[in-house]
Amino acid sequence: MTKIPVAIPDLSGNENKYVSDAIESTWISSTGAYIDQFEEEFANKCDTDHVLSVCNGTVALHLALLALDVRPGDEVLIPSLTYIATANAVRYVGAEPVFVDIDPDTWCIDPNLLEENITRRTKGIIAVHLYGHPADMDAINHIAAVHGLWVVEDAAEAHFAKYKGIPVGGLGQIGTFSFYGNKILTCGEGGAIALHDKQLAVRARTLRGQGMDPIRQYYFPVTGYNFRLTNIACAILCAQLERSEEIIARRMEIFKTYRELLRDIPGIGFQPFAEWADPAPWLFCITVDQESYGRSRDELMEFLAEKGVDTRPFFVPLHTLPPFREESKCRNEVLPVTCKLSFSGMNLPTYADLRDDNISEISQIIRNYSDNH
Ligand SMILES: *Cc1c(COP(=O)(O)O)cnc(C)c1O
Repeated sequence: MTKIPVAIPDLSGNENKYVSDAIESTWISSTGAYIDQFEEEFANKCDTDHVLSVCNGTVALHLALLALDVRPGDEVLIPSLTYIATANAVRYVGAEPVFVDIDPDTWCIDPNLLEENITRRTKGIIAVHLYGHPADMDAINHIAAVHGLWVVEDAAEAHFAKYKGIPVGGLGQIGTFSFYGNKILTCGEGGAIALHDKQLAVRARTLRGQGMDPIRQYYFPVTGYNFRLTNIACAILCAQLERSEEIIARRMEIFKTYRELLRDIPGIGFQPFAEWADPAPWLFCITVDQESYGRSRDELMEFLAEKGVDTRPFFVPLHTLPPFREESKCRNEVLPVTCKLSFSGMNLPTYADLRDDNISEISQIIRNYSDNH
């Protein structure tokens, strides 16, 4: 079998053409028509009033927390099963991430465990739409409203997923996105924040552009940052947006084929989809129950690697990592659902050019490797 990576960006549309156009126009920096076009179209897709492009998804989270005025000593509730960027951004503003276990039915932060983790210092919640599946936003927003907290959605892995028919990104105060090379839509490195509130958008825009006053040039009322994205990157994103329905539809097909071909293998489980969710098809997920499958997740990953199939283990629980584990221990955080899923879950190759016969080969390897087939 030829080598199969986990992800390959689909750049088969107008990406090349629009990038050349941006270069020919000489607008290659952080002003230009593609930036405006991208921000407007992405806002339409997210059903929000404002979108600001930024240089990556980590910066999108950082900018969201800065705009919400999160400060040293504040606490932010986040899931432990997420990419490191979610927790790092909290630290960038001097605040402390407090880790909450996930709901086994969504794999996202468990709304029922939020209240017991709220202290006088808690300022907000980052709900991560993990592996494309939306978190239970009504329940999260309800608790946030009762306790006067803001909610940020980390939608890096969930472009255009829907919660009860509404696109993610506009369900809390700010939604953040990543356009890294392995995300559903990509420009290599890039990100965005989406939001409804005009004043918050003005504040975020100022912070993104070195803190310069929107009216008075070279007057800087606050300490800002250079978090901008380039017109070249937005040219790629405009081409991606043109084909977003096609890109998502192809990934959906891959999900469907995997589900059909991996059905009824003892010990192989799928990502649960809540009935109110229209998840975004990011990387296809399976879980390996060592006892009934007869092999561990790591053994299966290694076996697939020997056959040329690249896979990814689920995220390592952040509360167990060196930058966070001491504080987490002091707070006595025990997160059994997170730990169990982290060590049993893995991602399979998911990209437009993955052929059906690739999927059947991969599925066959997984089926045959089971001790119990
Ligand atoms: C990819 C990702 C990010 C960060 O995005 P970058 O563009 O790589 O900085 C943040 N959160 C989650 C959940 C992600 O998957």
